[in-house]
Amino acid sequence: MTHQLPHVVIVGAGFGGLAAAKALRKTPAKVILIDRTNHHLFQPLLYQVATSVLTPGQIATPIRNILRNQKNTTVIMGEVTGVDKDRNCVISSDADRQNVPIAYDYLILATGASHSYFGHNEFAEYAPGLKSLADAEAARNKILRAFELAEAEEDPSRHRDLLTFILVGAGPTGVEMAAALAIFVRNTLKSDFRRIDPTSTRIVLVDMASRVLTPYSESLSKSAKQRLEKLGVEVRLGHSVDLIDAEGVVIAGERVASKTVIWTAGVAPSPAGKWVNAETDRAGRVRIQKDLTVPGHPEIFVVGDTASLDQNGKPLPGLAQVAIQQGRYAGKLIHGRIVGNAAPGPFSYFDKGSMAVVGKGFAVLQSGKVRISGLVAWLVWAAVHLQFLATSSLRVSVFLQWVWTYVTGQRGDRLIVSPHRPEFAKPGLDTTVKATFAGSENSRSGRTETPTGGAIALKEAI
Ligand SMILES: Cc1cc2nc3c(=O)[nH]c(=O)nc-3n(C[C@H](O)[C@H](O)[C@H](O)COP(=O)(O)OP(=O)(O)OC[C@H]3O[C@@H](n4cnc5c(N)ncnc54)[C@H](O)[C@@H]3O)c2cc1C
Repeated sequence: MTHQLPHVVIVGAGFGGLAAAKALRKTPAKVILIDRTNHHLFQPLLYQVATSVLTPGQIATPIRNILRNQKNTTVIMGEVTGVDKDRNCVISSDADRQNVPIAYDYLILATGASHSYFGHNEFAEYAPGLKSLADAEAARNKILRAFELAEAEEDPSRHRDLLTFILVGAGPTGVEMAAALAIFVRNTLKSDFRRIDPTSTRIVLVDMASRVLTPYSESLSKSAKQRLEKLGVEVRLGHSVDLIDAEGVVIAGERVASKTVIWTAGVAPSPAGKWVNAETDRAGRVRIQKDLTVPGHPEIFVVGDTASLDQNGKPLPGLAQVAIQQGRYAGKLIHGRIVGNAAPGPFSYFDKGSMAVVGKGFAVLQSGKVRISGLVAWLVWAAVHLQFLATSSLRVSVFLQWVWTYVTGQRGDRLIVSPHRPEFAKPGLDTTVKATFAGSENSRSGRTETPTGGAIALKEAI
């Protein structure tokens, strides 16, 4: 009988996809949840992994662990590359099997977004973004390595470049990351080094916009900027970044030398619109109807960051709450159709407000007409973020880590963990050193040389 159950395929186990899967837990259907990773990631805390507050395992949970008691749901790790609307199947690949068709009666696409370099993809090599756990670990490695390189460098004139960190994009991620980095260098690291003074680190936050946190009110933007400056962050607004290369960035014609640039600016939606050949908005997000389906396809739903829906004349923002509410709505609607319930009314987003944290004990909060900044907003921020973590064990673990970090200034994870040893050997170095590292990876070229000389292509982590 099982094969006669309708198949609901959900692509993406982020906020939207997971909410949809949970809403289908009692549905007489076979639910298949496909994700390219094995974990559900709490993206709002990625910057805390990048700045060593939390470990990767504190902000991500295996998807199959979250859904272990949901018997109607199968979790598949795979990369979806397309949708065959005529045969009602998605095309998925993994390391073992290519282009496997997975049939659906209902399809929910919740594939989120990735970085956008606004047409300058060449920046990606020098300015990694912050979207996945691999990105956050790579950023953490890069930041920690800069201090190690500076400490080892005997020529003090090189310390300045190594200890200049540039964040491109003063939205919530850039602001949160800049503030966390400032506290990290001035509190946690200040007595750990002998040749360098980490408190002399230069942190530059740059954006074309005229204020930080543009989605927030002007008064909150102003207090966030003041707080950043108090923490020692150099905020450069109204300037475009013309170039990013191995030597740093060029901001409005002026070169700022830096070995660590992090991209916290634009996002681009997943290619879901191309898969279903649907109309998209200017950013490439699929234009969906009020019931979250693709026009002409009542069986295909698109939710979250990869969907575009207007409410009160404005497009809904790319926020976790939007994705969660849309995922839940799509799951409930499909449940209703399968069990024969009446269709619900059109989707309507309920805005619970937005928050951004600006360092220890300070956040900005905007909800309706309410605007708060300071410690109270920070306490609300902490409570809300704890509540939305995927499991109780994560809530306890993150809470304890935050209390520990707040009280002692110490952070959870300051390890440089590279999947491959960095390329130390350069022409001119001692031959013994070369021989020792003959099998190591050249992380910049994305290739690894085996001791036998064979080359294996590696997928770049960033
Ligand atoms: C650094 C950062 C900080 C943020 N902070 C906040 C915040 O404070 N508050 C807030 O409300 N929002 C915040 N956001 C935005 C929020 O995280 C997103 O709006 C939300 O994650 C969107 O949910 P989603 O389900 O659409 O996509 P996601 O949560 O991104 O999930 C997409 C899922 O799809 C999977 N996937 C993608 N493509 C494929 C494919 N081809 N095949 C298989 N699987 C695929 C991915 O692995 C991922 O698991 C932040 C985002 C970032 C990056």
